[in-house]
Amino acid sequence: MSNVAIIGSGFSGLAAACFLSQEGHDTSIFEKNTTVGGRARQYADCGFTFDMGPSWYWMPDVFEDFFAHFGKKTSDYYDLVQLDPGFQIIFGKNDVLTVPANEIELYDVFEKIENGSSIQLKQFLKEAAFKYDIGMRQLVYKPAFSWFEYARWDVVKGVADANIFSSVRSYVRRYFKDKRLISLMEFPVLFLGAMPNQIPALYTMMNHAALSLGTWYPMGGMYKIIDAMNDLALSLGVSIYTDATVDKIDVLGSRATSLQTSIGTIKTDAIIASADYHHVEEHLLEQQYRNYNEQYWAKKTFAPSCLIFYVGVKKRIKNLLHHNLFFDADFDQHAKDIYEKPTWSERPLFYVCCPSKTDNSVAPEGMENLFILVPIASGLEDTQYIRESYFDGLIKRIEEQSGALFSEDIIYKKSYCVSDFVTDYNAYKGNAYGLANTLMQTAKFKPSLRNSKVKNLYYTGQLTVPGPGVPPSLISGQIAAKELIKYFKTKTHETFI
Ligand SMILES: Cc1cc2nc3c(=O)[nH]c(=O)nc-3n(C[C@H](O)[C@H](O)[C@H](O)COP(=O)(O)OP(=O)(O)OC[C@H]3O[C@@H](n4cnc5c(N)ncnc54)[C@H](O)[C@@H]3O)c2cc1C
Repeated sequence: MSNVAIIGSGFSGLAAACFLSQEGHDTSIFEKNTTVGGRARQYADCGFTFDMGPSWYWMPDVFEDFFAHFGKKTSDYYDLVQLDPGFQIIFGKNDVLTVPANEIELYDVFEKIENGSSIQLKQFLKEAAFKYDIGMRQLVYKPAFSWFEYARWDVVKGVADANIFSSVRSYVRRYFKDKRLISLMEFPVLFLGAMPNQIPALYTMMNHAALSLGTWYPMGGMYKIIDAMNDLALSLGVSIYTDATVDKIDVLGSRATSLQTSIGTIKTDAIIASADYHHVEEHLLEQQYRNYNEQYWAKKTFAPSCLIFYVGVKKRIKNLLHHNLFFDADFDQHAKDIYEKPTWSERPLFYVCCPSKTDNSVAPEGMENLFILVPIASGLEDTQYIRESYFDGLIKRIEEQSGALFSEDIIYKKSYCVSDFVTDYNAYKGNAYGLANTLMQTAKFKPSLRNSKVKNLYYTGQLTVPGPGVPPSLISGQIAAKELIKYFKTKTHETFI
């Protein structure tokens, strides 16, 4: 039995810990913050309970698969409900596209907007399901050390058939003409951190996730998933240390030997670093042991950061659903402000999550819990003044849509932005979602899961394979753990220093 140290307790770190402990390794997690969960932490204040990060529960199959590895089901830990409608996109005052859970009803929605589009949607979703199958079965669970991993005929053919070389933007436009339908079909890839014209059409598999597999919610909030993983990890024997910042990885020869942490020196046989990759390389490792240098990171396309407001309102707000996308602004201009010439947008698109529509436990009775998120470029100047200058405008836009004035009824407000991501998670440029999934940042082109100089150091999380998002981070933890387990099995044949 070896002794493994995991840096960070987000989805990827917790997932890796569960697999390693199940295999019999003595596994410990070291987390700098007071609670586990990383970007998916939760906090409660004044009767409101806010999920701080992720709010969309997509790809329920990935969560079930994860727990099934340990003989468990998600229902052993939390109640999952399907949202119906799944979400709405607000293009203007009386211009709202509501997405029902049922696919047949969705065809009707499409047909009412564009003649013949329901037939197009059927074909689109059939292809998206095929891509999802190829993606999830053949691509996503690979460590991506070599292109040869993908060199099976069925995989190559599948990838070719999945339109990897055309963009989501051109692909969607082959099917639909109406601007609102195009926005709806392009929106899911915004989760991947780049513009639809930069994302390979393979990723329209996300439409299968969004429109066919459905939008779900764990009662009590997204943190229920973290709670579940934490409980599972503890039951498997993982030791979890919070308020335990890792300051340095000690290396001897080509092997990491210990961690210097705020709670002391920890001797270890191997490490999985689930903290932000850039932070681990630049701040925890001496230069000669790094995979990449600063220039490498500077050239990478980062997914956006965001400005978030956690808001409590002392009355109910009509016309809002659980998930609301405010697309009542110029999408292309906002995208330019994020990706081309990073600047604060004058009129950004934004997203409002109102989980109190589904879950009474997240707000006092008769009140509403709002999570307002504005995507912005990573690394922007972040001051209290700038944050505040956005708030009133966002509330006004929500009021216009809901028809309810509630600015006077706001009894709780807290903001979160670039500098908080840096302070709380050591996030490079305060990024929220890691690296964008552009073609040149996919699979082997992503920062490698293993350190090429330090044999017993692996990386996991949203900055390495397979990419950003909760399901990919869970999968990333699994891949890293499996690779480390393989390493332990072969290590006995190597000469130790
Ligand atoms: C606002 C927001 C909204 C999102 N919405 C969604 C969504 O709706 N659906 C979805 O699927 N995904 C969403 N995501 C993305 C998803 O939350 C992330 O991809 C995922 O949580 C990343 O998990 P991780 O394990 O890679 O990293 P993290 O969660 O960042 O975990 C890394 C951990 O390492 C710790 N750490 C850092 N440095 C050190 C150190 N030196 N010592 C010890 N510990 C350290 C950090 O504190 C952190 O706990 C969202 C993200 C954000 C920020």
